[in-house]
Amino acid sequence: MISGLLNPWIRDLVPYSSARSEFSGSADVLLDANESWEGGNSGVNRYPDPLCRALRKEIESVMGLPYDMTAIGNGSDEIIDMLIRMFCAPGRDSVMIERPTYGTYSVFARTSDVSVVDIPLTPDLDLDEEAVLGGIEEHRPKIVFICTPNNPTGRVYPLEAVLRIADANPGITAVDEAYADFAADFRSAVPAIMDNPRIVVMRTLSKAYAAAGARIGILVASPEIQGVFMKAKPPYNVSLLAQEAGMRALQDAPRVRERIAETRRRREELSSFLSSLPFVRCVFPSEANFILIRVTDAASLYSYLLGKGIVVRNRSSDPMLGSTLRITIGSEEETGKLKEALDGWQG
Ligand SMILES: *Cc1c(COP(=O)(O)O)cnc(C)c1O
Repeated sequence: MISGLLNPWIRDLVPYSSARSEFSGSADVLLDANESWEGGNSGVNRYPDPLCRALRKEIESVMGLPYDMTAIGNGSDEIIDMLIRMFCAPGRDSVMIERPTYGTYSVFARTSDVSVVDIPLTPDLDLDEEAVLGGIEEHRPKIVFICTPNNPTGRVYPLEAVLRIADANPGITAVDEAYADFAADFRSAVPAIMDNPRIVVMRTLSKAYAAAGARIGILVASPEIQGVFMKAKPPYNVSLLAQEAGMRALQDAPRVRERIAETRRRREELSSFLSSLPFVRCVFPSEANFILIRVTDAASLYSYLLGKGIVVRNRSSDPMLGSTLRITIGSEEETGKLKEALDGWQG
């Protein structure tokens, strides 16, 4: 079933066979990969594990994502790019997004000469299930991207709606759950992969696990799609340093839980503060580690904050997001500085 959706040149690809993937077991004389015999100061003279086995075992035990269903990308960005290259034929196929959403889906589509079908969210920024289903009928996109909790709105879509779309979609439904850890009682699409192997899920260590600099994105997919990803990806796509940093981030689980709780608490506190400001017209309820607000004049508030050394994201040019700013939940100190600056703004 999946093989009919894959680009034929990917399906038939004979993977590059790296020295380390041909070899399994233990040996102490490694003369197979033309590496340096000595590490110098860097300590990284050996190639990393192309399969990220230790990291994926840790992901299984900490995050509960089954080992044979995960693959690691150099950030979720690489996973998005790879999915498009696996399933979409340049110059012919399309992907679907529900705008406003994360910007990289359409950028990676365009770099592969794949067109983008935009389905607007409902006026209150919810997933427009009917419009998505209609768009699938009409355009037959190879991949439907669904971001939940959505960036930049912070909105979680009902899992039932996501699964109805995935079941009706003859192509791939890629559910981006980058902010799942911050949502209360979040219901993931991962268990649904068993029944519908056209669903793939993306997770990341960049947000709740505090490892954005390591670039660790996680693909969760049927073993069939996972296997194709493994053979089509660049062999050494996740560096040794990144794999080690990812392991450390996962082993820090108690601290991760504390940080998530703290982030949620601060999110609620900052939301009520923002609601009390006269120039804030709307605080969108968020399940992520950021808050989207609509203000009287986003452009001047943005420059005012910049003048105070505070950078937020101006989302005003997104469809339906006129005069909005997206603010990340920062540290106690950063949040304090933000509040102080906002208190002094004469909007
Ligand atoms: C931040 C973010 C990611 C994470 O991307 P990485 O490349 O893993 O850092 C993925 N999806 C969305 C919607 C995001 O906002």
